Amino acid sequence: MRIIVIGGGISGLFIAYELLKRGIRDIIVIEEKYLSAGGSGRNIGCFRSSFTSPEHVILMKRSIELWLNYRSELGLELKQSGYLWIARKPETLEIFEKLSVFHRNYGIPTRVLSIDEVEHVQPGLNKDIIAGALFDPTAGRMPIFENLVKLYLKLKTLGVIFHFYTKAIRLNSSGYRVKSAITSKGEIYGDIFIVSAGGKGTRELLATVNIEFPVIDETRHPIITEPYAEILKPALIIDWDTPGAPYVTQTEHGGIIFARNIADIPEALLTSHRIDVIGLTIKPIIELLPILKYVNILRYWIGYYETTPDHHPIYGPIYPYENLYVAAGFSGHGLMMGPITGLLIADWVLNGKPSIPIAENLTLERFKIGKLVKEIAIVG
Ligand SMILES: Cc1cc2nc3c(=O)[nH]c(=O)nc-3n(C[C@H](O)[C@H](O)[C@H](O)COP(=O)(O)OP(=O)(O)OC[C@H]3O[C@@H](n4cnc5c(N)ncnc54)[C@H](O)[C@@H]3O)c2cc1C
Repeated sequence: MRIIVIGGGISGLFIAYELLKRGIRDIIVIEEKYLSAGGSGRNIGCFRSSFTSPEHVILMKRSIELWLNYRSELGLELKQSGYLWIARKPETLEIFEKLSVFHRNYGIPTRVLSIDEVEHVQPGLNKDIIAGALFDPTAGRMPIFENLVKLYLKLKTLGVIFHFYTKAIRLNSSGYRVKSAITSKGEIYGDIFIVSAGGKGTRELLATVNIEFPVIDETRHPIITEPYAEILKPALIIDWDTPGAPYVTQTEHGGIIFARNIADIPEALLTSHRIDVIGLTIKPIIELLPILKYVNILRYWIGYYETTPDHHPIYGPIYPYENLYVAAGFSGHGLMMGPITGLLIADWVLNGKPSIPIAENLTLERFKIGKLVKEIAIVG
């Protein structure tokens, strides 16, 4: 059986890895550009399971367990130093209390912190403007490129074929079976086709077999500084009560990354940089952690949150086709979901259903029957 995976990002890599582990040997990955050219090479490397929908919480919790296993299995690196959700308003703490109860019901030990406790987690915060915080000690961050390259090299060693700089232009079907992908470098035949080509890439490719895929690429504008000694203790600090939820993280190499959700033209180009982004993003964070006013900005890039109407990914079979599957639309959380994405898609392809039943709620069918899932904890 030959399986064609379209998209060489974290989803495509983990799908290939999980299929290999289950005995599939003939796997081809088709990538329009280079390894992790999409969101997988433009994100900030953080993970958590402290979401607000049972779907996200259950799947992300399992995904983190898998990431932790992959430390020994694949030599991947990650550190659980926690997420700190800062509340500026006292009433936000009541919402955090409810969320914490919800998380603990699923075994995620988040807790609400007083101002003094917050300072213990991150020294130097401006205590005059904060009311407290929600802390998730199981969340964390990882060196993205190191992990991606390790996974890629493992897949190559195990025989996965990668076609880089090869764009899948359209899918070629006969009845309800996809026969081949017509690419910029010729036609590639397969038995099963899995599209994990990010937001717009997936939408455009599925449109060639008359499937409407509701996703839009929203720009995000992360800014990185020169490397510094460790300033940030938690993996991520989020300014929850400021619109656009500005956040800050520090990479394994010392660079401090700031970002915020800023209104922009939908699907603006990756080269449409804006000078106003810098002040808008950094100001609220410096207000929270004044020492950051001394840092030197190095550069800023644009990436996309591949956003679906309910901020959850779209997984699974694409009906009425019998051999077409999708994993896309992660709405800004696809890196952390990589391992669970691989597991679920391999389940669907090889067993016809996911081994974690709640994942059934995330198929494309939910938009047809109007059963959207709700998530409010979207960072930046
Ligand atoms: C600023 C920012 C911060 C983020 N932070 C985090 C975070 O901390 N944690 C987290 O979990 N997520 C984060 N994300 C989201 C995360 O990066 C994405 O959800 C994830 O990388 C999606 O992975 P993917 O493999 O599904 O898609 P992509 O990485 O986008 O991969 C899809 C690939 O398909 C290729 N492609 C597209 N069309 C075609 C075609 N027709 N033929 C062949 N190939 C094609 C593309 O070139 C691309 O390489 C962030 C995103 C941004 C922009």
